[in-house]
Amino acid sequence: MSIKRETIKKIDHKLVEEVVEDELLERFKSCYQCGTCSGGCPSGRRTAMRTRELIRQGLAGLTDELLSSDLLWLCSTCYTCAERCPRDVPSTDIILKLRNIAAHRGLMRGPHVAVCKNLFNTGHGVPIGGEPWLTFRKTLKLSPLPPTVHSFPEALKEVQTIVKETGFEQLITQGEAVQKEMIKKEQEMTPQKIKALEDQLQKLKADAEKAKKAQEAPKK
Ligand code: SF4
Ligand code: SF4
Repeated sequence: MSIKRETIKKIDHKLVEEVVEDELLERFKSCYQCGTCSGGCPSGRRTAMRTRELIRQGLAGLTDELLSSDLLWLCSTCYTCAERCPRDVPSTDIILKLRNIAAHRGLMRGPHVAVCKNLFNTGHGVPIGGEPWLTFRKTLKLSPLPPTVHSFPEALKEVQTIVKETGFEQLITQGEAVQKEMIKKEQEMTPQKIKALEDQLQKLKADAEKAKKAQEAPKK
């Protein structure tokens, strides 16, 4: 990872202490940056996920960068990195703890907010959505619906009570509000964005003009 000097806003070593409050995560500080975790990460094969980079940002005290990083949300929690780490760093549990800290700061990602809302509204993060799943279940000789809230809709109230009582509903609302604000900011037209669009338009016009002239030119 190249850390550009100008991107470093604040060095904050409190984050590591916050993570290692959970003594199981004490080995956070043992990482010697060998990269074995990144090398074996199945998510990293298809996404920008770099486990070593997350651990390094944490150890370097780059709290803002780390907690607002997309990388934090690309982990599928498969535990390959933790099993292979030569220093026994529980990287997956560290990522989960970091996500919890990020969620408490309203930094949950949009898709995660959507899954949490599903849980609140249906009792499932990923509810069964009719066909083809019902047919698949039948093929496997399973009951049409699993013995969960799908089969016992009266239990949904209990799920919602737990979500509310634990304060999780508040985190979901907070995460959603932050997401909306971020999307709004991204969509705002800044002078730079307007200039880039104008340049693009000019280029398209010039290309179209060139193509027209080429078409009109007498063929030899
Ligand atoms: S495998 Fe372990 S020691 Fe190596 S970079 Fe990853 S967390 Fe650090
Ligand atoms: S637990 Fe997450 S970071 Fe570790 S190997 Fe699996 S996907 Fe990658």
